[in-house]
Amino acid sequence: MDALLQPLNDRQKGVVTYRGEAPLLVIAAAGTGKTQSLTSRVASFIVEGVDPTRILALTFTNKAAREMRDRAERLSHTPADRMSIGTYHSVCARLLRTHADKLPQIGLAGLTAGFHILDNNASVRLVKDCLYRTGYRENSHVRAPDVYAILNAWRNAGIDMEEAAAASAASTSAPAPPGCTPSRLAVDAARTLYRVFRQACIQRNAIDFGDLIMYTLRLLRSCADVRAACQSRWTHVFVDEFQDTNDSQLQLLKLLYVPAKTRLMVVGDDCQAIHGWRGAVIGNILQFERHFPGAQVMLLEDNYRSVSTILDAANRLIACNAHQRKKVLRATRPTADGAGAPIQLESHETPESEAAAVAAHISSAMQSGVDPGQFAILYRINAQSQPLEEALRAAGVPYCLRGAMSFYQRAEVKDVLAYLRILYAPHDCDADFKRVANTPPRGIGPKLLQDVLERAAKRNESCLAAAQTFVTAVEDQVARKKKAAEAGGAGSTGGRRFAGMRALLEVLGELRPQAQAPVGDGGRLTLAATAEALLERTGYLRWIGEQQDGADKVLNVQQLIATFEGLEYDDLLNRVFDDEDEPIADGSSGMKRVSLMTLHASKGLEFPRVFIVGFDSAMLPFHKSVQEGRLEEERRLAYVGVMRARDELHLSYPRRRAAYGGAVQTDGSMFLRELGL
Ligand code: ATP
Ligand code: MG
Repeated sequence: MDALLQPLNDRQKGVVTYRGEAPLLVIAAAGTGKTQSLTSRVASFIVEGVDPTRILALTFTNKAAREMRDRAERLSHTPADRMSIGTYHSVCARLLRTHADKLPQIGLAGLTAGFHILDNNASVRLVKDCLYRTGYRENSHVRAPDVYAILNAWRNAGIDMEEAAAASAASTSAPAPPGCTPSRLAVDAARTLYRVFRQACIQRNAIDFGDLIMYTLRLLRSCADVRAACQSRWTHVFVDEFQDTNDSQLQLLKLLYVPAKTRLMVVGDDCQAIHGWRGAVIGNILQFERHFPGAQVMLLEDNYRSVSTILDAANRLIACNAHQRKKVLRATRPTADGAGAPIQLESHETPESEAAAVAAHISSAMQSGVDPGQFAILYRINAQSQPLEEALRAAGVPYCLRGAMSFYQRAEVKDVLAYLRILYAPHDCDADFKRVANTPPRGIGPKLLQDVLERAAKRNESCLAAAQTFVTAVEDQVARKKKAAEAGGAGSTGGRRFAGMRALLEVLGELRPQAQAPVGDGGRLTLAATAEALLERTGYLRWIGEQQDGADKVLNVQQLIATFEGLEYDDLLNRVFDDEDEPIADGSSGMKRVSLMTLHASKGLEFPRVFIVGFDSAMLPFHKSVQEGRLEEERRLAYVGVMRARDELHLSYPRRRAAYGGAVQTDGSMFLRELGL
């Protein structure tokens, strides 16, 4: 325990060693060691003999979860693999799978333990489908993304419209998405669609992000035994970045919490609340004591991350927000030259010349021996990465994009996951089969695919079984024809059309027993080895390599497979590919790279040298957010970005931006003045 406490200051020690029954809230500014204290506290319980299975830690990203597990393991010298550490979504997915036998009981008959998780794009596509089927026509008043946003707003607020509708007809008070005023028609459509969308998901054995949480709430509320089991299992509960919890997540915490029994600790900073647009409620941290009566509040006031030039500017910026809890924040970083390097500010002609200047700076730093891994480039929206990527590539600077959305949205990544689902879960893989049946092309045209799927639906069997029957039937027919032809002396057989399908089924049939053999069986293939064999033998890897940007695509696939190491298929199902997730290491692992990410994705991280580009009047604050009345949230976002920097901060903006076919002149952001620049 001493070794654990030794690097900490007195306040942090107080946090780690607090053993009172009351829930603990640590509220403190960026860089004061909240995450560090939380992790040390997890380790301290394990050192004291708390069984790791009793620990539940909710973090913001899978990466943060992994880091926390590693750190807890190192600090406590105990294997920590049995702790439940993850995002709300991944923990909920695991709970629902574990208790899949209860799903029919809570009105979810049809969902099985092997359900898929629908990402946002797939969900919007499904909403489109449902709109069409319910007779709505998409137009400027009713758009699928808006309807999905309304469904999300309800669920983020913890409102189950289905239950609300069942309980009373008064379901009209449900909130609209924060900051946007959808049309009356869109709200009506969303109300109609709530049920239809869910049924469509269940039919596909799928759950979207919003319902992962809603269904878990339902499970815990309806099944007292499950609730009791969770409450008695997770006696130690930790939440990082609590300022970004939404109401449904708060309800979940309340269901897991037993007064005087659960040791609950949450840490956060109201000044870094940046997910209001996703339904997070800043009041959840400001009124923590109301939600968890008797809570103990502890403050940390020393910043260990940034030099004081950066810290002072950030403090000036955030002081412009009216709604925040006042906090003391002291710099502790001694620097040889006193306060540290001044913040650099530059303006450029266009985003392209701005990107070129950033790339040139990093490239010359690299030439004088600086590791590119020290740099991060942050921006407001994903699209801004494009000129940066081009400039870095041109300058020969290695970089990686963080933020999983882009990675897991890539076609090749989706293909690989679809292949694996077909192999491991052939009973509910229609969508996956559709996706890869003819990828790479193997002569399975849309008509044949349609026939197979229809047959599967008619006979209530998996599409693979249907495909197998199809192939066998056709081959029988071909054999008969052949015989007849031999007897009659003419005619072609046409059986070749099915050769591709048969080859695919054969590969799957051969690999399946090896992939599903019990652990310890000599012939067993790990998930990673299975994926490799599958992609090799189906010809997928060769084919993808021949496509445009093939080398990059192959690297992405290899990178994905590398992340399977040590995982089982079930783990994979539970890895919720949330946005702000894994870095894309673009293949050559181990190599240090510049990190590129949005301001949102940078939360909780730190880098010695940070660039924030696009610090202009059109981009930061983001014009749309200002229109929607979220200026303070934009200021918090800028604050989050500035506070990622340890030693050096470079801000820049273009004086001109492309917009709607033309160009707009831009000025420096209002936040520059507030930073004192
Ligand atoms: P954020 O709000 O940005 O998530 P945080 O409060 O979680 O920040 P941490 O990431 O835990 O802050 O810590 C910031 C940095 O300060 C880390 O590099 C951490 O190792 C370091 N640090 C924390 N406490 C101490 C300490 N007592 N002595 C020296 N360094 C410390
Ligand atoms: Mg943190």
